[in-house]
Amino acid sequence: MRSIEHFIGGQRVAGRSGRHGDVFDPNSGQVQARVALANADELEAAVQNAAAAQVGWARTNPQRRARVMFEFKHLLEKHMDELAALLSSEHGKVLADARGDIQRGLEVIEFACGIPHLLKGEYTQGAGPGIDVYSARQPLGVVAGITPFNFPAMIPMWMFGPAIASGNAFILKPSERDPSVPVRLAELMIEAGLPAGVLNVLHGDKDTVDGLITHPAIKAISFVGSSDIAQSVYALGSFHGKRVQAMGGAKNHGIVLPDADLDQTVADLLGAAYGSAGERCMALPVVVPVGEETAEALRAKLVEKIAELRVGVSTDPQAHYGPLINAAHKAKVEAYIQTGVDEGAELVIDGRGFSLPGHEGGHFLKPCLFDHVTASMTTYKEEIFGPVLQIVRARSFEEAIALPSRHQYGNGVAIFTRNGDAAREFAEQVEVGMVGINVPIPVPVAYHSFGGWKRSGFGDLNQYGLDGVRFFTRTKTVTQRWPKGGVVSDQSFVIPTMR
Ligand code: NAD
Repeated sequence: MRSIEHFIGGQRVAGRSGRHGDVFDPNSGQVQARVALANADELEAAVQNAAAAQVGWARTNPQRRARVMFEFKHLLEKHMDELAALLSSEHGKVLADARGDIQRGLEVIEFACGIPHLLKGEYTQGAGPGIDVYSARQPLGVVAGITPFNFPAMIPMWMFGPAIASGNAFILKPSERDPSVPVRLAELMIEAGLPAGVLNVLHGDKDTVDGLITHPAIKAISFVGSSDIAQSVYALGSFHGKRVQAMGGAKNHGIVLPDADLDQTVADLLGAAYGSAGERCMALPVVVPVGEETAEALRAKLVEKIAELRVGVSTDPQAHYGPLINAAHKAKVEAYIQTGVDEGAELVIDGRGFSLPGHEGGHFLKPCLFDHVTASMTTYKEEIFGPVLQIVRARSFEEAIALPSRHQYGNGVAIFTRNGDAAREFAEQVEVGMVGINVPIPVPVAYHSFGGWKRSGFGDLNQYGLDGVRFFTRTKTVTQRWPKGGVVSDQSFVIPTMR
């Protein structure tokens, strides 16, 4: 059986804790590899390697650090197919989507290539007599990132791109469910010229996460995962004096106004609801048609088009989406579907009970469609994270805005309309962090920032973009005076002011 090792001090290191996690092949349901789970000694080794490497890396000038990023970008492009195949084999997303996962991370690396410019500080000449003031952004030191299973390439790069370019050393604790790609990314960073120890990958579970959060040498924790864990990571990390950003779960709504282009909207909804088997924090699992006429027309088109979707193995180029990550997650999604039925929602299309010939053990689930879902139902309130689309009918525009605004999650939302006035009002009023106007998955481009509101994000700085650089640096402000020779200022016991 293949063993997936840690990556510490610039090389793969076999786990010695005796603990491991199973990594499944989602297409077959079989265990395909075992991932080592770190113990306290291995965690300490990662921290010590990172701390030792960080000092020299922070002193490496930003342009040289950017060159490593440039080279890493080229290596990502060169190894795109290999990485996508590896990613897809552990996650189960289809190959084209796996390439998208890597590409979106690569775009953050492209952003990080601009680090010399991004780190330029501010300067005020002549703030007082002979006094100049400047502010510089300095790296924090050793920082850590904890990432979820659903984007095993993109989300690690969201974090370590800006963090490392800014001069920090990084310890990545990736999801133990699809851990191979992060190790490969670390190897490519070394090949790109990164000094050993600046990027380490430590596999593990809650014990490892807790060890990182409470370790005194780690200055910041970036977390992406489900909300309850995000909140506890935020609380524990803050208590231990660390800077923490913790992104959580989601339940994104797509509002469909009566004037929307329905064919385009349905095409967009299908990809956003069922792509990657719905295992995206920016999936659109809730659609809110406004008015009964819109609801009926939308439902009819959805039913027709859902029937054409193909679920297949992740290497099937014709498949729209592949299997779910593992059997436990599939069972959880199916339990939510049953709850929806029990709560009185209408299960218009039931994708359960599907078995792919030749891949009977795979974690496949065909698309499900619910209608007449209401805001009081558990299956509406909670994140399902599977190929399940729920229609929640709204009588008015106001009711449609209220649904995502009152929901516990506030990650993404989309509105489909031809009415600029309504779209503008919606974007301004809705209580959600990322808004799409006729854009179903409004993941901001790499030079903006990613972050949800309410229980979708704890902490005040978003992922990547300028926020990413701000999160992984701290500002130092220097006030300097170079008096003219021979001129002595008067003694003063009063707080200096600018009067
Ligand atoms: P998860 O919360 O189960 O795991 C995330 C990470 O936390 C993993 O590395 C895991 O090993 C670790 N972990 C697990 N249990 C822990 C515990 N008790 N204490 C500390 N750490 C623990 O999430 P997942 O199932 O891997 O990913 C899916 C979730 O992530 C969904 O809720 C999805 O919406 C969310 N997500 C959010 C975003 C975002 O940016 N908002 C992006 C992607 C995914």
